[in-house]
Amino acid sequence: MAKIAINIATGSLQQNEVIVGIDLGTTNSLVAIIHPESKKLIAIKEHDSSSLVPSVIYFGNSNEVVVGEKAKEYLISNPAQTIFSAKRLMGKTYNDIRDGIKNFSYQIIDEDDKLVKVKVNNNFYSATELSSLILKELKKSAEHILKTPVNKAVITVPAYFNDAQRQATRDAGKLAGLDVLRIINEPTAASLAYGFGLSNEEEKIIAVYDLGGGTFDISILKIHNGIFEVLSTNGDTFLGGDDIDNGIVQYWLSKFKETANISQQQLRVLAEKAKKILSDTDNFMVEINGIILALSLPELETIIKPILNKTLECSKKALKDADLTIHQIDEIIMVGGSTRSPVIKKEVTDFFGKKVNDKVNPDEVVALGAAIQADILAGNTKDVLLLDITPLSLGLETAGGLMDVLLPRNTKIPARASRQYTTQKDGQSGIVISLYQGERDLVKDNRKLDEFILKGIPNMPAGFAKVDIAFLINADGILKVSAKELRSGVAQEILVKPQQNLSDEDVEKMLQDSIKNAKEDITIRALVEATTEAEQLLNTTEGFIQKNIHYLSQQELLSTSEALQALQLSLSMGDKNLIQLKMEELNAISKPYAERVMDLAVNSAMSGKKI
Ligand code: ADP
Ligand code: MG
Repeated sequence: MAKIAINIATGSLQQNEVIVGIDLGTTNSLVAIIHPESKKLIAIKEHDSSSLVPSVIYFGNSNEVVVGEKAKEYLISNPAQTIFSAKRLMGKTYNDIRDGIKNFSYQIIDEDDKLVKVKVNNNFYSATELSSLILKELKKSAEHILKTPVNKAVITVPAYFNDAQRQATRDAGKLAGLDVLRIINEPTAASLAYGFGLSNEEEKIIAVYDLGGGTFDISILKIHNGIFEVLSTNGDTFLGGDDIDNGIVQYWLSKFKETANISQQQLRVLAEKAKKILSDTDNFMVEINGIILALSLPELETIIKPILNKTLECSKKALKDADLTIHQIDEIIMVGGSTRSPVIKKEVTDFFGKKVNDKVNPDEVVALGAAIQADILAGNTKDVLLLDITPLSLGLETAGGLMDVLLPRNTKIPARASRQYTTQKDGQSGIVISLYQGERDLVKDNRKLDEFILKGIPNMPAGFAKVDIAFLINADGILKVSAKELRSGVAQEILVKPQQNLSDEDVEKMLQDSIKNAKEDITIRALVEATTEAEQLLNTTEGFIQKNIHYLSQQELLSTSEALQALQLSLSMGDKNLIQLKMEELNAISKPYAERVMDLAVNSAMSGKKI
């Protein structure tokens, strides 16, 4: 059933339902849209307030749920009932987070290999449920501000999120009543907000430096023809603005003895305030309980330095993994609230030897990018043709060296396709699965990606095995190919990166070649298909004759042998029509006795049955 959106304020039908972009962050979350009327790209907020909603959930004594700024207060007064950093738990088991457990002030249930559950007031919550509460709050406030229902969203996740974490995010959206149209990578979203990848500009390599509240992520992306490829990611899941705040508190405690009388929590709040103020001024001073706390910019820079150095170490590793030198980076974009500190911008600029790009609000940039992606999905941004798609077809080699395409070119990713194959020979125990990319009909003209062997298929006649081969390409463009023989359960899989070492020119050349050779390719494919079919027919007919020679007349044997020879001859002549004709002739000869022998077999099976 189609949904029709009604503008609550005006009562009019809305032509396009809004699709929002959501940054579901560890510390802060927010919603952005391209406004349906003004067409402006904006983060959603109430007048005079911040667009950021702290990712904090407080469960009151009678289980009332408070999310956002108001919940943040309870981090201090009631930590056991106040959940923060739920994102860290997404798609994780207790074993996964065991080492970092001291970072959580609320109760996490210890069940080794089960998905994490949080216990508050004798109720249990999964990470998905917790995230859904934040999403619900975002949806509610967006609806309130926009005065229109919000049912569809694009949600961002870190580039390193695995399938389980992405699925957990999707599920959280669903629980919150949101149809999650797409999960996109945070660095991809940030690049979109900076306008990269929106036109068919030349290839660009972008470093996305994202320093948030509790996490640091550096991602190196290659963008070409609107395709975002994550070349590498690195980071530290426990490094961010919180560490700077802690550093300030430690510094104050050591410098001003009187601070011991102020609660740690109060000090942390003041420390964050000091840090933020020092992003715009040189000095911070405040009086609390008659005590004066001060922090100068140079002092703050000394506190930030070790944290900054760690981020640069991660950046080095990311460059190395992407096989790039610093000079190959075209743009460095700043993401995350903590990049507002001038010292961070300066040092990152020095590290890359290039001025960092900080034009877009670093708190909002990810959500803004998600909103652009949402607008593209809504079909409003017509000039973007290619985005997150497969530039070339992906497939595998079948009999006769033919290309069998599972994911055609321009398939939107993530995507999945599967098909069943079988064995060609009796007792065949393995199948070689060769993966190719390209538009030509013969694999020899395409680009070979990789190959693997599905081994251990039990002994069965040709054509009996059922081999299911699935192609799954994820949001990062990584292709997982899995093969499973369904009767025996033997399985095997492989991961490949189809876009690796593939330049725009390569893609273009492959497309041009396929157009140039289309006619010949079709002819060759038809011939190869006919040949494969004929070879199989030769095999089965010869096998049948050997087994049932006693049931056939002399005349039948003679005419069959002649027809087999004629088919053999047509194969050597490479004439598709002739091969088909000879197959038909052979079939016409063998059909009567094949039916007769079958009947005999059935009758003997029946008479052998004891009742
Ligand atoms: P996340 O992606 O983890 O949800 P954000 O990108 O919202 O986090 O960043 C939050 C962090 O940014 C907090 O540590 C906050 O103190 C810090 N921050 C926000 N504004 C400033 C500022 N003006 N100067 C320095 N740090 C800031
Ligand atoms: Mg973030």
